Amino acid sequence: MTKFEPTGHLAPYGVMAAAETAQLFSALRQQGGTARYVGGIVRDALLARDLGDVDIACDLKPDICMAALEKAGIRVIPTGLQHGTVTAVINDYSYEITTLRVDVTTDGRHAEVAFTDNWLLDAKRRDFTFNALYCDPNGTIYDPFDGEADLRIGKVRFIGVAEDRIAEDYLRILRFFRFFAYFGRPPLDAIGAEACRKGAIGLRDISSERIRDEMFKLLRAKNPAATIGDMVGFSVLPVILPELSNIPRLRIVEWLETTALADPAIGIDPLRRMAALFTSPETGDKAIAHAARFARSLRLSNDEVERFSLMSASFRLIDNVMDDKRIRRHLYHLGAEAFRDAVIMAWGERAALSARPIPGENARWQHMLAQAHAWQAPQLPVKGRDILAAKLVPPGPLMGQLLRLAEEYWLEHDMTPDHAALMAYMADHIPDQDTKNNPPEERE
Ligand code: ATP
Ligand code: MG
Repeated sequence: MTKFEPTGHLAPYGVMAAAETAQLFSALRQQGGTARYVGGIVRDALLARDLGDVDIACDLKPDICMAALEKAGIRVIPTGLQHGTVTAVINDYSYEITTLRVDVTTDGRHAEVAFTDNWLLDAKRRDFTFNALYCDPNGTIYDPFDGEADLRIGKVRFIGVAEDRIAEDYLRILRFFRFFAYFGRPPLDAIGAEACRKGAIGLRDISSERIRDEMFKLLRAKNPAATIGDMVGFSVLPVILPELSNIPRLRIVEWLETTALADPAIGIDPLRRMAALFTSPETGDKAIAHAARFARSLRLSNDEVERFSLMSASFRLIDNVMDDKRIRRHLYHLGAEAFRDAVIMAWGERAALSARPIPGENARWQHMLAQAHAWQAPQLPVKGRDILAAKLVPPGPLMGQLLRLAEEYWLEHDMTPDHAALMAYMADHIPDQDTKNNPPEERE
């Protein structure tokens, strides 16, 4: 028989030891409530990690909980009242307080909840054993499903019957792998993984936003590639996001981000990791359009869609035998950030495909990144108004055409021609009205 009883103790630290937190618990206690930390914060405290969000479970009904906090002068925001969640804010700290609850009906996506005062029932509706850890303000731990032991051996284990728990909320499949990427040690729990494989089709009914958020959390883990490989192996990703399949390239990109380069300016970048993982059967413009469609289907922001589709195409322009002039030309067109993304993607692509590196190759990639780091975008030293002032062509399309010729000439000469040189060049290269569509003469 599972019971909800004290099982251990930890020494509160960080936010758990803050005066603000003591004030919060005291306000709830004054109204006769019992409140305990739950979920990630207890898990992270057991691992002595930095503590993130503070989730608190409380046996007071949401309206009484709100009143108790307000009475103590604490600011409280009804963030999810119908689910029983309010957010309390004291100074720089914020706390999510959720009334103990049970899921009454579930349909694989949403749950209808009822409030309860039974701690064990609240624990049972949580997903994994180590996510059902509770802790009193003084550090007394309640661990009804032996979650701490699972945490110590890196086992992500469903509470109850895995298949049933997945059918209640299919997003738990992605959570299973996400928590494994952060806390797991191979092998995966076989029963859980098999239940995920069987249930994967249910993920198709989960909203794109929830899937996107989970995927991004997963991609923020230090080394998610192996876990993502498992998600492909257990037919989870192929069912919802078949485009996310390039594990070898992701593996190199994550190694670059976390080990080889370890540069704070580069950092762990979930969108870049997703681009590394993305493969399209299309080529050229169609591949770019495919990438944009994919990013939009995950409800990414316009900026993210743009960056994602650029990353999945621009790396093809980059190779590690480019000379500095060519590097600067790409930097000019892409800008430093997009160029860096392209180099990292190209490096990942190349290393994923080649059996062994060519000597000096990594130094070449590094050199390109250093160029990006030092890049100060120069400006073309002539403008449309210079053309008008010198009456080279009348206002209109010829002006833009002449400017593009000048820019091409300037780039061809490594951005060294100055204003006078470009004016002279343009005076010699006035396009004919009817040859507007001719390509510039001098090309590589
Ligand atoms: P982190 O915030 O570090 O990502 P967390 O464990 O706090 O990790 P949250 O998503 O914040 O995760 O959820 C808080 C707690 O709520 C979890 O620990 C878990 O007990 C429960 N929970 C969250 N989502 C689900 C779900 N889909 N099914 C069951 N329980 C869940
Ligand atoms: Mg949390």
